[in-house]
Amino acid sequence: MSFDNLKIERNRRARRIALRLDVKERVMRLVLPMRASMKAGLEFAEQHEAWIAQKLAELPEERFVTDGSEFIFLGEGLTLRVHYDTALKSTRFIKENGELKVFTNQENISLRLTRHLKREAEKYFMVRLQEKAARIGKKIAHLSIRDTKSRWGSAGPDGKVSLNWRLAFAPFEAFDYVVAHEAAHLLHPDHSRAFWRTCMELSENYRDGHRWMKQHGEKLMAYRF
Ligand SMILES: [Zn+2]
Repeated sequence: MSFDNLKIERNRRARRIALRLDVKERVMRLVLPMRASMKAGLEFAEQHEAWIAQKLAELPEERFVTDGSEFIFLGEGLTLRVHYDTALKSTRFIKENGELKVFTNQENISLRLTRHLKREAEKYFMVRLQEKAARIGKKIAHLSIRDTKSRWGSAGPDGKVSLNWRLAFAPFEAFDYVVAHEAAHLLHPDHSRAFWRTCMELSENYRDGHRWMKQHGEKLMAYRF
């Protein structure tokens, strides 16, 4: 088999040899416990060759957000328009009439665009998170915006919440559900019945949001900037 899309890694906490699909990096990770031999690992991968190939083939198509791209951001349809001008001193973003206009002296806007969108997502998520937390008598101590590959968010009883900024590209009800999910964790650290009841109460449209994340969530990992 070809090992082009196979990344081998040792993991101190791993109990057994395992394969894990990394949707963001578009590779299959072969996880080896410290004691396992490389030979055993590769044999394991070989036994699952067909499954690995299938999983990699099923990865959502990459979506490049560049000049002229249409995309949904925080529930709003936008078209990206890049105005490149070497005379400009810095990069500015203006959102109007369904367009996100970028005035820039940069040939490659990837970094600045990502930073801008992350900041916008953070502001927006913070407002929604605070609103939901207030409804159950909780406060947000800190929100961090992450780009983790497998988790959409986390929340601790200390009021510290993290959310994946890629949620901003999901439909409104989907990211609203994830925000509600993390807010509900401020009250219930588990996934008990009480937790789900709170999560549902805090969601605008729990059913559709939950379903969308389950069915399409990993597509968010395929956005490229
Ligand atoms: Zn949870």
